[in-house]
Amino acid sequence: MYKISLITGDGIGPELSESAESVLNTIHDKYDLKFEIIKLLAGDSALKKTGAALPMNTIDTIKKSDACLKAPVGESAADVIVVLRRMLDLYANVRPAKSYPHMPALRDDIDMVIVRENTEDLYTGKEFTVGNAAVALRIITEYASKRIAKYAFESAKQRNSKKKVTCVHKSNVMRITDGLFAKACTEVSKSYPDILFEQMYVDACAMNLIRQPEQFDVIVTTNLFGDILSDESSQVVGGLGMAPAANIGDNFALFEPVHGAAFDIAGKNIANPSSFLLSIKMMLDWLGVKHSDTKCFEVGQKLETTIFDLVKTGVKTKDIGGDKNTTDFTHEIIKNL
Ligand code: ATP
Repeated sequence: MYKISLITGDGIGPELSESAESVLNTIHDKYDLKFEIIKLLAGDSALKKTGAALPMNTIDTIKKSDACLKAPVGESAADVIVVLRRMLDLYANVRPAKSYPHMPALRDDIDMVIVRENTEDLYTGKEFTVGNAAVALRIITEYASKRIAKYAFESAKQRNSKKKVTCVHKSNVMRITDGLFAKACTEVSKSYPDILFEQMYVDACAMNLIRQPEQFDVIVTTNLFGDILSDESSQVVGGLGMAPAANIGDNFALFEPVHGAAFDIAGKNIANPSSFLLSIKMMLDWLGVKHSDTKCFEVGQKLETTIFDLVKTGVKTKDIGGDKNTTDFTHEIIKNL
């Protein structure tokens, strides 16, 4: 029995959580893979109800669970996910982007993953004012840079594709901070002679994601650049509605969609739940490795195949050109699992 903490979130979060919960319950019933789902408050709704965006009870319960699923949260995102990533030392933010048949992707041969450093850079919130100037501290350490580089090379080793790591930075302008990041990645690359290593400035990478997205395999980059580039790479393969992500540490992991709370479509039952359901697939893979549980891999694969088989036959939500609403699309998945 796996204990899964589920942050239901804000905006479209509760709708996605409902979909995720029913899919997990189906897996629980149909396959011999048992889950206990513990629903938790965090984000704007928690702030309103309890006065804290990340209540103590939520933190304690997450720590006692086997993995955490987090639906998007709203304005208080920095007080929830940024804090959790640092508190649980979830240093690798892993964001795959792959083209699948019948998706509005730029090309049909895109298969990359963005490995984003998750614990430092401008996202640590070290901001202050000095007189009329606003200042933000950008801290990049050798320790965190080497750790994420190693994660990226290990990922490239395990992937069946191009065996390439592209280190993305802007060291020609930010010579000290990005200079350190680039140097750390270069040093780590020497331990992986079978993996091709290249460096690219972030502006060139943003352009190449449109111009030649098929050239990328694993992109390793700092926190802010990774956040921006992964929204772009998601769009390149069909949009945020299909984009899952994992936040991985040595002992714990949290899974969430790439996108935010999407308030513009909240409460309309039109959100694409695939981003969250594919995050469940990433969670199953992670649990499979951690607990040497082959059933997790099998069920994760089944879930992914079910989603993409439906999309292939035109059963899809509005954001990717279909007419199914959130509930109906979820029912189709459950029916076909
Ligand atoms: P954040 O800054 O918190 O990442 P954002 O303001 O960039 O959030 P998102 O919520 O990430 O915006 O999403 C951008 C747009 O993409 C939304 O306004 C919505 O229209 C669309 N979108 C995002 N997620 C989904 C989804 N699961 N299904 C359908 N459309 C989505």
